[in-house]
Amino acid sequence: MEKEILLLKLGEVALKGLNRRSFEDVLIKNIKRRLGEAGDFSVYARQSTVYVEPENEDADMDLAEERCGKVFGAVAYTRAGAAEKELSAICQKAAEYLGPDLEDAHTFKVECKRSDKKFPYKSPEISAEVGGYLLDQYPHLTVNVHEPDVTVRIEVRETEAYVHTDPKPGAGGIPVGTGGKGLVLISGGLDSPVAAWMMAKRGVELTAVHFASPPYTSELAHDKVVRLLKKVSEYAGRIKMVTVNLTHLQEEIRDRCPEELHTVILRRFMLRAAQRVAQEEGCGALITGESLGQVASQTMQAIACTDAVADMPVFRPLIGSDKSEIVKLAARIGTYDISIEPYEDCCTIFTPKHPRTKPILRFVEEGEAAIDGEALLNEALESVETRHILSGKN
Ligand code: ATP
Ligand code: MG
Repeated sequence: MEKEILLLKLGEVALKGLNRRSFEDVLIKNIKRRLGEAGDFSVYARQSTVYVEPENEDADMDLAEERCGKVFGAVAYTRAGAAEKELSAICQKAAEYLGPDLEDAHTFKVECKRSDKKFPYKSPEISAEVGGYLLDQYPHLTVNVHEPDVTVRIEVRETEAYVHTDPKPGAGGIPVGTGGKGLVLISGGLDSPVAAWMMAKRGVELTAVHFASPPYTSELAHDKVVRLLKKVSEYAGRIKMVTVNLTHLQEEIRDRCPEELHTVILRRFMLRAAQRVAQEEGCGALITGESLGQVASQTMQAIACTDAVADMPVFRPLIGSDKSEIVKLAARIGTYDISIEPYEDCCTIFTPKHPRTKPILRFVEEGEAAIDGEALLNEALESVETRHILSGKN
């Protein structure tokens, strides 16, 4: 088998000045980890490109490509054929490696980049030579420099030359682990998995907290969240999931607090519980899937009442997104089909008929004083369940 490698183009990573090296190091570590079962690869960075090179013939390049397409920090990626740094070898490799693309095309052009300035031919010369050779090999082709069906790209690098076509768009963002640790409040809904994905895209390493209220919520609802996180972890890497039982707290709210404030009071307790988990797990921020005006608890006033108990930043990456935009992203990440499965969430049990959409903090505080919040929180946090979630595993 001829040698094939993966090239990943660095995005913003390349712009980080003095931090660039450490960003690259994190990205390389993430890629290596993510390649896992795909085989043994050597992964290294040179000139805004990460090279993923199989070390033997057992490597599963399809799987490796799929994994690399989901690594944050790369704006584009492509498979490439490797050739010796000889003009004739480059020509042959282009004809052979890109054969299927060229057979289907009517027009093409060749673009060359030569980062090895000691290579005895200049880029335009290499392009002309390769172009001529391809015209000989594929007489049905014509050159079109403005709108070619296929662009043949040649890169002459330090040790080898690479041929490939246009790279595919990568996952973008910055490498997970360069943006601190965040705790996402994850439900089985559409929004929170997308919010988690967005923050991971900005380099945040994720831990997740899920609130369950058995027997009102089922084991199936919990399993749904696990499957959602697995999807997110295809991009975000390993996610620790902490499940907190809120049954008793919710029953107390239902029995003792003013009905129209149930939702906002529950949300305040979720935030308090999440914050304690965050401190325990070394997370510097909370992440939720809220979007302004989507439901009663997501008005500006309700969010103000919720945030009043927060003493760390609460990131709400979807705050300005429409449902249709969130749905589109969910479909892209692969969480949509799971999210629309119909299981009860603890937010949807005991929901008041007429929740207050503009709650006033003083009344919320008074209403919630009817229960022993501190004791109930302690009780809930005494017996949390944790598991580690990794795509392709458990
Ligand atoms: P989602 O689609 O994420 O469920 P939503 O539009 O249904 O969001 P709510 O149910 O009001 O809105 O929840 C708002 C946010 O609160 C969620 O995005 C999530 O971050 C958090 N949340 C809600 N329910 C839970 C839960 N059971 N466990 C953990 N977090 C939750
Ligand atoms: Mg929900």
